[in-house]
Amino acid sequence: MSKDLYVSPYKLQGFAECPQWFYFEYLDEEIHPYRRELKKPRSFFTVGDCVHKTISAFFIRSAGQRNEQLLFDLLKQIWDQYSGARGGFENAEEEKNCFIEAKEMLKNFWKRQQKMGEPFYSPGIVPGKELKKSEIGPDLILMGKLDRIDPEGEDLHVIDYKTGKKEEGSSFQIMAYGVLAEAVFQKDVSKVSFWYLRSGRMQTFLYNLEERDKILEKINTIVSKIKAEKKFAPRVGSRCYICDYVQFCPKKEEVLKLLKKEMPSQREISKLPF
Ligand code: SF4
Repeated sequence: MSKDLYVSPYKLQGFAECPQWFYFEYLDEEIHPYRRELKKPRSFFTVGDCVHKTISAFFIRSAGQRNEQLLFDLLKQIWDQYSGARGGFENAEEEKNCFIEAKEMLKNFWKRQQKMGEPFYSPGIVPGKELKKSEIGPDLILMGKLDRIDPEGEDLHVIDYKTGKKEEGSSFQIMAYGVLAEAVFQKDVSKVSFWYLRSGRMQTFLYNLEERDKILEKINTIVSKIKAEKKFAPRVGSRCYICDYVQFCPKKEEVLKLLKKEMPSQREISKLPF
């Protein structure tokens, strides 16, 4: 049996936020057979997912076919698959507002995209194919979904689309995508960016060997902690808003109090995986 440990920025961040969540999500053999049923659709995930899928489908079309209307048409086609309860919408009004938000993000995307060139890489729409993996150490595989890579001279520019309300992407996450892109495509990365689609703003970080070494060290530190972890204790906090395991959580009462105080739909959750 393979001893390889597969890690992604989302997985590592999840462990750092709540070891108990990590245990439920990846290690709990009792819960594992029911994980799919336990996953609750959430409207804010649906919005992000539909926007990402729309942009991926957009880049499959030839450059001459691409325009703002195509983005809206693709969004509508993709949205129809998640309409109603399937997308976690509580009612038609919430769904309509979310659809308008998604459309606004695509308008912002198109505004900037018109001044940008053809991406070096866009994930396409074949399920499963968008997951990239690369060995970054003995028995250690880094994986993740790269949203977009642009050419940057001879190098690469890794871009992550963000659809959440807060413009606070995790620098660990984007730098880790830099490491992944470099390993998968065997080319140097010189820039990594978050593209916040609600405002259209691009936040860019320079990426170099020093940054890569720092991120690899951080990944190895978290991996060592995961391997040494015995208790996987619950840590009540922002992860609880997107946790599907509240019913099994040893701190369930405390979590329910937190969720009552501030419902996810009213809260600007910043640490979404997209
Ligand atoms: S409900 Fe909160 S504290 Fe409990 S496992 Fe989930 S994220 Fe952790």
